[in-house]
Amino acid sequence: MENNQIQTAARIINEGGLVAFPTETVYGLGANALNPIAVAKIFALKERPSFDPLIVHIASYDELKTLTNKPKDLVLKLAKKFWPGPLTIVLVKSNIVPDIVTSGLPTVGIRMPDNEIALNLIRASKCPIAAPSANKFGNLSPVSAKHVKKQLPGVDFILDGGKSKIGIESTIVTLEGNICTILRPGKITIDEINDALHGIFVFNTNKSEKITAPGLLKSHYSPTKPLYLLKEKLVQLPKKSGVILHGACDNSPKCEKIIFTSQNNNQLEIAANLFSSLHAMEDDKHITQIFIEPVIEEGLGIAIMDRIKKAVYKYESIK
Ligand code: AMP
Ligand code: MG
Repeated sequence: MENNQIQTAARIINEGGLVAFPTETVYGLGANALNPIAVAKIFALKERPSFDPLIVHIASYDELKTLTNKPKDLVLKLAKKFWPGPLTIVLVKSNIVPDIVTSGLPTVGIRMPDNEIALNLIRASKCPIAAPSANKFGNLSPVSAKHVKKQLPGVDFILDGGKSKIGIESTIVTLEGNICTILRPGKITIDEINDALHGIFVFNTNKSEKITAPGLLKSHYSPTKPLYLLKEKLVQLPKKSGVILHGACDNSPKCEKIIFTSQNNNQLEIAANLFSSLHAMEDDKHITQIFIEPVIEEGLGIAIMDRIKKAVYKYESIK
């Protein structure tokens, strides 16, 4: 990436514009997190409801200290273990964070992305960058610059950093007293967090209805064509069906097109290729509906299945 592209992007951020940029999870749609008018443009371009708070991206621990009041030792322990990386920590916000960023909540989600272009953009802009995924609200997440252009042609600038390495969004956690709650499953698994936080009770909201977070909707990440779970490989599929599988098999379904996210059910490969395979099916004019194989809900499979269940939700419920 040319330095002058980063400089141009940083200038746009400082002038209150929007820049789409790569992260290791998915592409983000960024604005100066401390400028409420710029942040409002994110909600407008994405058509995102105002009750759904944004994650603020930082490049240094100094920024963490200005966004939240005195982070506790446990927070620093988690951050030091997983940052830069796909972990968002929800913390009590300081007064400098505009309410629009947090949808009026007293807390703000913060992470340090593991992507040099993203970090250089934040450093060059000299401000934290609020960035949700760079897509229309509720649609497929973008893992390449092309996916961003397809859904958000009106964005001021796109930094093209190739395909996102991880391919699904960050794990989101809150820490209260001796309890760590995973609000959204992601690349970092509950076991990894447990290992990092000895003596702290870690649990998954997916398995408990006790806590609800704004934005944790049942339907999300959906393609513009009907998407269904492929419950059995040998069923007769309608004409013009596209099928997404996660491992090679002897008896593949009969259909128009098959995309493999992995040849051998490798979870890292499935995550990395999940959204790009859905985009490819969405873009293929020979396909009118898509079927996707489920994965086993273990380890990273929990986050992958979370995305798949939400992506099929609106279509499965009207079938
Ligand atoms: P996105 O960046 O589009 O992947 O979505 C960010 C998600 O982070 C939101 O939909 C919320 O579920 C979650 N989030 C962000 N800030 C907070 C917060 N302060 N409290 C709880 N959840 C949050
Ligand atoms: Mg999103």
